[in-house]
Formats: sequence, structure tokens, C-alpha cells
Amino acid sequence: MSTLQGKIALVTAAAQGIGKASALAFARAGAVVHATDINEAQLAKLRGQEGIVTRRLDVLDEGAVTSAFAEIGRVDVLFNCAGFVHGGSILEMKDSDLDFAFDLNVRAMVRTIRAVLPGMLERGEGAIINMASVASSIKGVPNRCAYGVTKAAVIGLTKSVAADYVGRGIRCNAICPGTVESPSLQDRLRAQGDYDAARAAFISRQPIGRMGTPEEIADLAVHLAGATYTTGQAYSIDGGWTI
Ligand code: NAD
Repeated sequence: MSTLQGKIALVTAAAQGIGKASALAFARAGAVVHATDINEAQLAKLRGQEGIVTRRLDVLDEGAVTSAFAEIGRVDVLFNCAGFVHGGSILEMKDSDLDFAFDLNVRAMVRTIRAVLPGMLERGEGAIINMASVASSIKGVPNRCAYGVTKAAVIGLTKSVAADYVGRGIRCNAICPGTVESPSLQDRLRAQGDYDAARAAFISRQPIGRMGTPEEIADLAVHLAGATYTTGQAYSIDGGWTI
């Protein structure tokens, strides 16, 4: 039997990149997956995939989050994948960048976890996976101030939820990728002007010699969804960036 047979999962930011690969991997592992995002055109490409139901969900909208979880009912696995990368050091970071980063990278997870936890506690089981990054409390990365601050907060949130509910069947873990080839990463490379030079520079900082793939991160998400003795951990998956 597949590891997630009979489970119901919800993935945020599932229209592309790591979220999409994870929604597909959860479904392949046997789960029924609610794949959610704000990008309905991209999300539509997942329609018809076995085990996947798509739904527009803006994780910045508390009312939408509350009603989506109320409508869906049971969710056994929540993968909070939504996040945004701001560039810039502390002197370049605007307060509005930090506010937005906190809202999307951290508070959105607070919203979804508050919405999903009561049902998980009633059933006495549930797995929550939060998307952090090695650019956080694990590693200082230049020009990623708002990002690093908020992804460090994701690790704190993960450990806090894990500690509060470890005795009640809830597990909460964080995934901390290095550099992963996703659509937004391609956008960041293009934004630097010389795409090939920017790509070569990103690859040169990867000890393993290449960037990660969304599917490699999705494998870890599937593992954590079913890892019944694991909670409160922040898993680096970074091709050796933080050795
Ligand atoms: P991506 O950045 O290419 O796509 C992000 C998705 O989030 C898009 O589909 C977008 O529509 C969706 N989204 C944006 N705002 C939303 C909102 N308010 N509500 C719902 N969905 C929203 O994907 P990615 O690069 O795979 O990143 C996914 C996660 O992984 C992010 O949290 C990111 O910080 C984290 N991460 C990525 C990398 C990397 O190198 N790609 C490394 C470490 C961590």
C-alpha cells in the first residue's frame, strides 16, 4: 500500500514549482490532494490528474482560508508551501517588503494551521509541513534579508506547533531547501539581465554541482507526511550548500 493511501492532503502554492511537484507526489503516494493557489490558469493544468482536486485559495485572505478548510472538512496532511523571495539587504529592504514577507511567508501558515488544527486534534492525528529555506536561521545569505528573517520565523513556528501538540498526535516539520529550479527562480535569474551568467553563478555555489529539482523536494514532503516518529525538525535539502 502507498504510504499516503486514504489520507487527505492540502497543498498551498500548488500551481507551479515545489508545490505542484508535491501535490502530484502526494497523489502518487495514494492521497486525495486539494491543490490550491491564486494562479488559476496554472492550477487548471493539474485538473484531471488522478487524486487531485484544484481550488483557488489566497492564503493572504483569512476569510477565504477559514471557509476553504470548513468546506473541505477533513485534512490529514497540510503542506504550507506558499512563499515569496524579496531581494535586498537590511538597508534596501522596505518596511512594506518585510510586512508582505511576514504576511505571506509566516502569517499565512498561522492562518492555515489555525484552520486545520481543531479537526486534526479531534481525530488525534495530523501532519503539518511548513516550507522554510536554508536561507533562514540555518544560513545567512546575502541580499535576502526579508526572506531570511521570515523563513527563520517559519522554523520557530514549526517547532512551537510541534512542541505544543506532540502529545496529541500532531506532527509539524519544516523543509529547508537550498536552490531549486522553479518558475520563480527562473524569473529571478532572468531579472539579473545576463541569464546564463546568473545561472552559472547560482550553480557555482552548489557543492553538488547543480540546483535541486522540485521533485527532489517533493520526495521529502511525502516522507514527512508519513514519518510517524518525526516532529519539530527542520530538514535541509540543499545539495551540500550548508555542509
Ligand atoms: P514559485 O515561487 O515558482 O511559485 C510560487 C507559487 O505561489 C505560485 O504558483 C504563486 O501563484 C503562489 N502564490 C503566491 N502568492 C500566493 C497566495 N497569496 N496564495 C496562494 N498561492 C500564492 O515556487 P517555488 O520556487 O517552488 O517556491 C515554493 C516555496 O518554496 C516558497 O515558499 C519558497 O520560498 C520556497 N523555497 C524555494 C526555493 C527555490 O530555490 N525555488 C528555495 C527554498 C525555499
